[in-house]
Amino acid sequence: MDQNPPSSNLKNSGTSQLRFENTSVLEAQSLCFGFPNLKPVFNNVSLKTHKDEFIAIIGPSGIGKSILLRILAQLIPPTSGKVLLNGIPVVHPSAKIGLVHQSIATFPWMTALDNVKLVLLGGKMSDEAATQTAERMLEMVGLKSVEDEYPKEMSGGMRQRVAIARALSASPEVILLDEPFVHLDELTANRLRKEIYDLVFQTETSLKSAVLVSHNLHEVVQLADCVYIMNGSPATIVNEVNIDLPRPRNERQPGFLDYVDRLYEGLNLVPPKG
Ligand code: ADP
Ligand code: MG
Repeated sequence: MDQNPPSSNLKNSGTSQLRFENTSVLEAQSLCFGFPNLKPVFNNVSLKTHKDEFIAIIGPSGIGKSILLRILAQLIPPTSGKVLLNGIPVVHPSAKIGLVHQSIATFPWMTALDNVKLVLLGGKMSDEAATQTAERMLEMVGLKSVEDEYPKEMSGGMRQRVAIARALSASPEVILLDEPFVHLDELTANRLRKEIYDLVFQTETSLKSAVLVSHNLHEVVQLADCVYIMNGSPATIVNEVNIDLPRPRNERQPGFLDYVDRLYEGLNLVPPKG
């Protein structure tokens, strides 16, 4: 991971102090989920994000992380439990909670600009205002110059940035990221991790917090203030690890790899050598 200079306009200082303040942004209370007539996927999942906080959820494949994010976005209902945004229950999909899917989801027949405008035109916004907002978001993710290109003309990294610009253009307060860097080459992924972090915490965006699902534990330690570990069958949150390292973070800083090891241990895995 590269060593980036500190960004002066970031709101998060990288301490876990926030966890002790009790104003949650997104909160899951005792969520349970199961498909009809099947054993539950997970039980009693509770988690919280606070203002200016980046949380991560890790766990083995098939444990229910993508389903959990869809429930947090209210795209599917939980079997029981509640999702609260700023203390108020959410029961319908809300523009205030944006989701970037695990697979790169751009529409091939639409230009980058139209892909981003899509979420805006569903509302009351005029075409002109939607174009302006979409252009601003594409600029923010560094894609203004390719707004008229189609996804097939773009790299995977660019398409993923279009998907992120689309999620951000609806001015969400929380962004849910389901393995957003997994299809990207390491260099692009690294740049995008830094960009995402800056976007989440720079003052111009409406974002208050982010929820990342990832299998890459180095990425998780680089980005997250708090990590929830899901495991078991049915799954539950088996551990919660606060990552108290100064930002920007890199693997060479003291303590970084200790946190990576703690997460491997939390998943009952042995860290790879080397
Ligand atoms: P993760 O994102 O942690 O890899 P998912 O949330 O995608 O896991 O899936 C959780 C579990 O639910 C998996 O075991 C998967 O096989 C199961 N599952 C997903 N969709 C369905 C479905 N439509 N019917 C039955 N089981 C499903
Ligand atoms: Mg998944």
